[in-house]
Amino acid sequence: MAEKTIEILSSEKCTGCYACANACPTDAIQMQPDAEGFPRPNVNRERCIDCGRCITSCPVLSYASVIVSKPQEVYAAWSLDEKIRYESTSGGVFSELAIAWLNRGGFLCGAWYGEGHRIEHAIVDSREGLDRIRQSKYAQSDIGTCFRCIRDLLRRGKQVLFCGSPCQCAGLLTFLGDKPDGLFIANFVCRGTNSPKAYEAFLRWLEECYGSIISRVWFKNKALGWKRFSTRVEFEDGQVYSKDRYHDLFIRGYIEQNLYMRECCHTCEFRDLSRTGDITLADFWGVKLADKTKDADAGTSLVIVNTEFGRELFEAVKPRLFWEHKSMEDAFPGNACITDSPEANPMRSYFLSRLGEMPFDKLCAECFKKPAASKRLLYAVKGGARTILHAIGLKLFGGSMKG
Ligand SMILES: Cc1cc2nc3c(=O)[nH]c(=O)nc-3n(C[C@H](O)[C@H](O)[C@H](O)COP(=O)(O)OP(=O)(O)OC[C@H]3O[C@@H](n4cnc5c(N)ncnc54)[C@H](O)[C@@H]3O)c2cc1C
Repeated sequence: MAEKTIEILSSEKCTGCYACANACPTDAIQMQPDAEGFPRPNVNRERCIDCGRCITSCPVLSYASVIVSKPQEVYAAWSLDEKIRYESTSGGVFSELAIAWLNRGGFLCGAWYGEGHRIEHAIVDSREGLDRIRQSKYAQSDIGTCFRCIRDLLRRGKQVLFCGSPCQCAGLLTFLGDKPDGLFIANFVCRGTNSPKAYEAFLRWLEECYGSIISRVWFKNKALGWKRFSTRVEFEDGQVYSKDRYHDLFIRGYIEQNLYMRECCHTCEFRDLSRTGDITLADFWGVKLADKTKDADAGTSLVIVNTEFGRELFEAVKPRLFWEHKSMEDAFPGNACITDSPEANPMRSYFLSRLGEMPFDKLCAECFKKPAASKRLLYAVKGGARTILHAIGLKLFGGSMKG
């Protein structure tokens, strides 16, 4: 009988990164959804040989940074390829790094939509694969056995670029025990990760409302501009759902209400991004460009170069980017999540416990905190003004928009 397993980790600290399950030599650990829908390790004591590898691979219990960071360089940037920029969440810098990596014969590991739009990490080695892992997906991804596959690829002398949340990157590093030369890590500023159960309930609710099966999910769609990021969901019968961040219930529940993030995200231990990535990517919300006529509202990436390896790859892709040097202070306005964890909504546990018992919209109506009247008025004015400008085809923020 095992004395010490990953079960010593308190449930509110577990990030669900899958490092312990990947490290277990007897497959005694299965990641299973907990009552809130988040993946959590489940130990089969019959199979456990008490080797302790689940503990030494856990980024919360055993994490020691193996990234050698240098003075950070900060940039505002975007891909000069308009299609890539439009289809990416921020400025498409991830895709440009990925293309350079593929051209070197490397592999990519990132999150895609699997069967039934389930969010999971996968390893790809082609442009078609990159098309699938592009874009932020707003629920916790299933890492599966990707960490093991990455270790095997690296042992065979292959190169891998991994992109994930800071805790997933820390999980991979702790699982590997060091940072092999062929591994490049791109992390991102992370508000927090949402419950797959809440995401699933949202999709099923939309299918009920539209009476059709979902064929595509696209968060932070830029049809109405990057800053007003919209959720676009397409259905098999051709219908389209499209609502901006002020009206889409799922994104409101995430960024305005903090209603269904994983518990540990409210006290995240991995916000020191330089420890978990060669490069950090984010939205450059507060960007002020030297040339104000440049189109920031088509999506601008904040790029923080943390290591020499990060610098080398970023320099290689610069010719395919618009870029401008910035300071760390420029990066903070409008992006509190670089340093701070959002505070949980007091209705969080209730919301997650009632999922499946009530329609998604009714549960939101019951649990959403009402914004102050001044904020409601501001939202209404902002939303209304942008809709009118968009309808008459004016360029917002001096830039063009695709519809
Ligand atoms: C859950 C989440 C929260 C975020 N919170 C913030 C924030 O508060 N502030 C901010 O500035 N930026 C945040 N970002 C980062 C931002 O949305 C962009 O992903 C980032 O700027 C890269 O954009 P891009 O245009 O270069 O590339 P994109 O093509 O948009 O990059 C997407 C990359 O992110 C990976 N990815 C997508 N979804 C997930 C997921 N669920 N789990 C793990 N990896 C995933 C993909 O594999 C891909 O490699 C968040 C991203 C996610 C996924």
